[in-house]
Amino acid sequence: MTDAAAIVSRLRSTFASGRTRPYEWRVRQLDAIKKMLVDREDEILDALHVDLGRPRLESFIGETGFMVKEVEHARRHLREWMKPERVSTPVVLQPGKSEVHKEPLGVVLVIGPWNYPFQLIMSPLVGAIAAGNTVVLKPSEIASNTSALLARLIPQYLEPDAVAVVEGGIPETTALLEQQFDHIFYTGNGHVARVIYAAAAKHLTPVTLELGGKSPCIVDRNVDLDVVARRITWGKFFNAGQTCVAPDYLMVHESVREPLLEKLRSTVRDFYGEDPQRSADYGRIVNARHHQRLAKLLPSGEPVTKIQVDEADRYISPVILRDVSADSPAMADEIFGPILPVLSFRETEEVTHFVNARPKPLALYVFTDNDRFADEIVDHTSSGGVTINHVWLHLGVPGLPFGGVGESGLGAYHGQFSFDTFSHRRGILHKPLRIDPPIMYPPYDGLKSRLLKLLA
Ligand code: NAD
Repeated sequence: MTDAAAIVSRLRSTFASGRTRPYEWRVRQLDAIKKMLVDREDEILDALHVDLGRPRLESFIGETGFMVKEVEHARRHLREWMKPERVSTPVVLQPGKSEVHKEPLGVVLVIGPWNYPFQLIMSPLVGAIAAGNTVVLKPSEIASNTSALLARLIPQYLEPDAVAVVEGGIPETTALLEQQFDHIFYTGNGHVARVIYAAAAKHLTPVTLELGGKSPCIVDRNVDLDVVARRITWGKFFNAGQTCVAPDYLMVHESVREPLLEKLRSTVRDFYGEDPQRSADYGRIVNARHHQRLAKLLPSGEPVTKIQVDEADRYISPVILRDVSADSPAMADEIFGPILPVLSFRETEEVTHFVNARPKPLALYVFTDNDRFADEIVDHTSSGGVTINHVWLHLGVPGLPFGGVGESGLGAYHGQFSFDTFSHRRGILHKPLRIDPPIMYPPYDGLKSRLLKLLA
């Protein structure tokens, strides 16, 4: 097993040397990440294909292409993010100058999941490097090819004394978690998040927890059903439904339920053909365990599309289920696979009540032509983020924080939010020595105490 203590100690001395703090060092590392993305795109897409059986274009959209945008954005804005922010100093504290400095935290641990195994390691890495930290990366052992590739490529492009990759599963992660870090950034499920949080608490280490949940997708009446069906089908069956922000279930206004089901059925056929197993544009389930877990959810409702399952090929066809009851297995936990339960509603309050009766989701989607309906849903529910009239595109806007709330996570990142996550905002008041009015010093008598009470 890798020596976690030795790795952390090596990275800690690099940080202590001050080498990672200057703008120039950070930019060099960001440029090296960009170079790796460009030079090694084919290898990365190949590894992702082996791990997830995913179409290369989906991997480009969700992983390498996304990362190029992320790293370019950080590169472009880094100087402005690093600049101290001037804030006003109250009159009683004058003369003085007040500033917020952004300082790196130290040694950061990033633990990633298997579903976007490249992007979900690299995107936090960009934020951590931009903020001037040293970083230990622990990719998911379930996406083993991507993990091995990261372990091979990262030392070729980034300074090995500043960024280390530790491969492995529970024992290796447990050994890492015994070390003291200055921040732990975890993406994955809520059960493991509790293990991470408890381990972090021992060292009072701050955490970011990027988790999942059942993200609802609400469809109002009076919408263009062709567009809605295309957007939902695309967002749900991308990466065979193994996307943390995929629409988990639909709540459709009763008046459009039947035509929407029909459109969804025909859109699945348009996208993936009569036999999606033969489509080059449809992915696979990551492993047999998840395949078996998903297969158990299939009897949760009446199938609208033909259900086909082939465990040897880790294949489950795109499944749309109608007449799904709220207490069926598919409605218990996050589905995280190509199964879309469809429920319906009549009144808006039914939707808000249903959503609020469950843990806060990572994302929420509303399809409507009516801004009041969208406001009503958004104002009376909570979720990590929202896209109106599309699915999960909010995570591509660098100016929006990406993260969960409640059971779906703690903290946020992307763009400047990543930089802030991995920085300490240090408040600094700078007073000149030469002016030193005696009013604040004891003895506090008479006029002095009256004046102090007035000013303080
Ligand atoms: P996973 O099984 O790969 O686990 C994630 C990481 O935790 C891995 O690196 C793994 O080695 C480590 N791990 C597992 N058990 C551990 C333990 N006992 N102690 C310490 N470390 C341990 O991935 P997963 O959890 O199945 O990921 C899927 C979940 O992640 C879904 O719930 C999904 O919604 C969520 N997710 C969230 C986001 C987001 O950005 N919010 C993105 C992707 C996935």
